[in-house]
Amino acid sequence: MYRTHNCGELRISNVGQSVTLSGWVQRLRRMGGMTFVDLRDRYGITQLVFNEEMNAELCNQANKIGREFVIQATGNVSERYSKNDKIPTGDIEIIVETLNILNPSDVPPFTIEDNTDGGDDLRMKYRYLDLRRNNVRANIELRHKFCLAVRRYLDSLDFLEIETPVLVGSTPEGARDFIVPSRMNPGRFYALPQSPQTLKQLLMVAGMDRYFQIVKCFRDEDLRADRQPEFTQIDCEMSYVEQDDIINTFEGLTKYLFKEVRNHDLGDAPFLRLSWHEAMRRFGSDKPDMRFGMEFVELMETLKGTGDFTVFNDAVYIGGICAEGCAEYTRKQIDELTNFVKSQQVGAKGLVYARVQEDGSVKSSVDKFYSPEVLNRLKETMGAKKGDLILILSGDDANKTRRQLCELRLLMGDRLGLRDKNKFALLWVVDFPMFEYSEEENRFMAMHHPFTSPKPSDIEKLETSPAEVLADAYDMVCNGVEVGGGSIRIHDAELQAKIFKVLGFTPEKAQEQFGFLMNAFKYGAPPHGGLAYGLDRFVSLFAGLDSIRDCIAFPKNNSGRDVMLDAPSFVDQKQLDELHLNLLPIEQK
Ligand code: ASP
Repeated sequence: MYRTHNCGELRISNVGQSVTLSGWVQRLRRMGGMTFVDLRDRYGITQLVFNEEMNAELCNQANKIGREFVIQATGNVSERYSKNDKIPTGDIEIIVETLNILNPSDVPPFTIEDNTDGGDDLRMKYRYLDLRRNNVRANIELRHKFCLAVRRYLDSLDFLEIETPVLVGSTPEGARDFIVPSRMNPGRFYALPQSPQTLKQLLMVAGMDRYFQIVKCFRDEDLRADRQPEFTQIDCEMSYVEQDDIINTFEGLTKYLFKEVRNHDLGDAPFLRLSWHEAMRRFGSDKPDMRFGMEFVELMETLKGTGDFTVFNDAVYIGGICAEGCAEYTRKQIDELTNFVKSQQVGAKGLVYARVQEDGSVKSSVDKFYSPEVLNRLKETMGAKKGDLILILSGDDANKTRRQLCELRLLMGDRLGLRDKNKFALLWVVDFPMFEYSEEENRFMAMHHPFTSPKPSDIEKLETSPAEVLADAYDMVCNGVEVGGGSIRIHDAELQAKIFKVLGFTPEKAQEQFGFLMNAFKYGAPPHGGLAYGLDRFVSLFAGLDSIRDCIAFPKNNSGRDVMLDAPSFVDQKQLDELHLNLLPIEQK
């Protein structure tokens, strides 16, 4: 038997017992004639003691072991002389009688401690060692608890967990697909699902009524800090529902998860709902961080045409935020903000500021263009008080400028400590536009996806003014992060065909790519809708992480590579031949 107990469970009540533990050597200390070993496993750390006087040979053996050796030790539980109140086993230690080295270890490339000395790349290459660290393991445990709670709650509401295939057909609408060549069907390719969207809809046609799946999805997009080429969704779909039914069901699930997994009570009140247009107008984002105010104030009336500043006089949008108590910002701090808004990430042309001084007067970077009366009106419109700093952006595209102002708002929120990771502000953003125009593609694209239902009252505008059509789509947002999103779906083949037409598909192309869905709709499709949560994002939010990588056991790096497995990698010519594939010459990087 390798062990009678794990390394986290022995207490003062076990004193006198003979026990056997197995685990990894965290640390080894020699003091006088004694050798102390911290033995670690997933459950905790227990101190082992080897006493030279009692057993010189054993102590000698102990002195040969090193960090991360896997050992087995048998001995007696004894009360510790100097107790360690930082760990639950800190009252006891094991006086070792026999030691068995189960497996030696090379010196690990970084220390297996909470604050490790391993950089990102090294940690990823040796992820199995990184996962031995407490804080990384804790994220994986949290993820497990989260998934269990999801299953418990949805099962209690009669949802069925159903697996959908990973090898599916390519649907270029949306992100780029990962494709997989088929040996048995030369020249043909599977795609990995970007989401099980159409399959879950077919499950509704099949009468499953309520479906969910904790499922891997794959998107071949350029990576950002919080993106992974493969990620996990909690994917859900329900039949015979309207938007409010979905919102109520998943508000329930979300509150349950916060309570059960994060020990945080979101209260009984329903989540706030903002329309997409309102969210853009007030916060410049379809995922506003509502942990703090600093709402946008539109300043067109106040600043356009009321002075000689041509930048404002030519603007289509002028908006400001008020940073409380920041009037004292130094030149250097203001320059930092200006550089930030002008950076590639934000892309604004410049920043105008106005300080409200102690005597209530306004001192701004555009003083020479405006009369004191106009500047005073600015202060009043902004609702600014003594000591506040007003920050203003303008531009010739309202939503673009709003997005830039949103970045500035978030930065100021960070600087003012208003984005507390232990505070959670949830809301639904609803009434998304159905389409957005893509200059690149020269056509309308679905803002959510092509299976989303337009609002019934807007259907008549589909042909005449698609840009104005609103969708029955909703996103759940927490602390500026989109944690989930979904929609009521189209369940009528004719309406679905109309949407494909707006999206620029010929009837033949629509039939070729989505015929399976439109055909299914001919056989009694129930009204249905659903949503998907981003599991990785949700768990990182609960864990207070900056990147989703830290709650994924084996994540990819920023170039989409698994540096531990060295994937993706080249394959043998034989494999390519079997697949009937020829590679084009590859540019060496
Ligand atoms: N399939 C959608 C997505 O991946 C979610 C949904 O509409 O249910 O974003």
